[in-house]
Amino acid sequence: MGRKRILKIPNSATIKCPSCNKNTRMKIEKDRSPQFFHCRKCKKDVQTPITKCCIICAFSDKKCLHSLLMEAHAKGLQVKEEKQKEEKLNAEERINKQLEILKEKISNAEHQKNHLID
Ligand SMILES: [Zn+2]
Ligand SMILES: [Zn+2]
Repeated sequence: MGRKRILKIPNSATIKCPSCNKNTRMKIEKDRSPQFFHCRKCKKDVQTPITKCCIICAFSDKKCLHSLLMEAHAKGLQVKEEKQKEEKLNAEERINKQLEILKEKISNAEHQKNHLID
């Protein structure tokens, strides 16, 4: 009885490269667990150790969705997605894209204006 405990699913994990310790943000996919990642600093392709489930489980502070769901199932926890951060990020991305479009329009308009003056 009592309230159900909730297990939150994060959107992304920070992978620490085992060779150079560089942190890389990785999105936690819903349908797959990444088996390798490419480190942009030391240019190494890091593979999941055979004893681990995936890159996220092996080298980050988080767990992949698959492991979280297994854990939730084992402990009888309710699963809840963490959404806010991603929505905020998407909003930022959208605004940046709109800004890009506006800038392009402005430069086109200026180009046309210059032609009119000519
Ligand atoms: Zn590295
Ligand atoms: Zn995993």
